[in-house]
Amino acid sequence: ATPTAVMVATGVGANNGVLIKGGDALERAQKVKYVIFDKTGTLTQGKATVTTAKVFTKLDRGDFLTLVASAEASSEHPLGKAIVEYARHFHFFDDQSSDEDAQNHSRESISRWLLDVSDFSALPGRGIQCFIDGKRVLVGNRKLLIESGIAIPDHVENFVVELEESAKTGVLVAYDDNLIGALGVADPLKREAAVVVEGLVKMGVRPVMVTGDNWRTARAVAKEVGIRDVRAEVMPAGKAEVIRSFQKDGSIVAMVGDGINDSPALAAADVGMAIGAGTDIAIEAADYVLMRNNLEDVITAIDLSRKTFARIR
Ligand code: ADP
Ligand code: MG
Repeated sequence: ATPTAVMVATGVGANNGVLIKGGDALERAQKVKYVIFDKTGTLTQGKATVTTAKVFTKLDRGDFLTLVASAEASSEHPLGKAIVEYARHFHFFDDQSSDEDAQNHSRESISRWLLDVSDFSALPGRGIQCFIDGKRVLVGNRKLLIESGIAIPDHVENFVVELEESAKTGVLVAYDDNLIGALGVADPLKREAAVVVEGLVKMGVRPVMVTGDNWRTARAVAKEVGIRDVRAEVMPAGKAEVIRSFQKDGSIVAMVGDGINDSPALAAADVGMAIGAGTDIAIEAADYVLMRNNLEDVITAIDLSRKTFARIR
């Protein structure tokens, strides 16, 4: 393609909300063999919602939710935000207050019912840890609890398995090293996700899903969206490793992601595509930015490259 053709294609992309950082990226996209999708926030809406909360002890339900929300209050993770939102909803909608009252509760008023937390730490790929009243609080997945020396009884395991089989993420809660409850969190697929996956397959491109979430949830979500090749329980550093494993035979690999976690993989991919609504670090690491936050633009990007470079092949 001539420099003019590349310029025209870049302009066409920009008009459609597909920002292309340079002619090399534009050229590589035509040869993409695998598209690796991050799950949370990329295939899914990234708007997690708590669907179930179960207390395993005699603790009052409201007190349980206050404790978990306090622990997650400084979390940037969509799961943490969903939990805080759920607890706030519980406290302000379940008493006599009207919807309007509830909406009028500002951020300041949340801090009034949240407990004091010290030594908060986010544990990537696992959850969070903090201290409340000098007692350790853990909120996260099995790995987190097991690493922290907390056993998971059968009835809890069964509860979590049930959630995961319906594509939800199970979040476990331990207080003072006792497992006190669990929550189920759902994150629906983006509306176009399944159509895009089907479209890629028709174009001869192989879709893959990679996630830090557990295998059972990952498989359930992959099945819904029509992806057969899944890599789950991948720690943040491992996503780039997954990209490299697909590149081993010389295949050209695209990665689509939105999170801080995804940026090493976006950089490692031959074609990194960041969701425009994603984090700045992901956008910086990518070759393409999909400004409309619509996965159809993954197809638009590959099509544009194929059309631009078709004549010289
Ligand atoms: P993904 O690749 O799906 O975005 P992450 O690496 O962000 O996954 O997280 C992997 C898993 O770690 C989550 O599915 C969840 O089980 C657990 N986790 C991470 N952060 C939190 C949190 N703030 N609260 C509860 N669980 C968390
Ligand atoms: Mg993500």
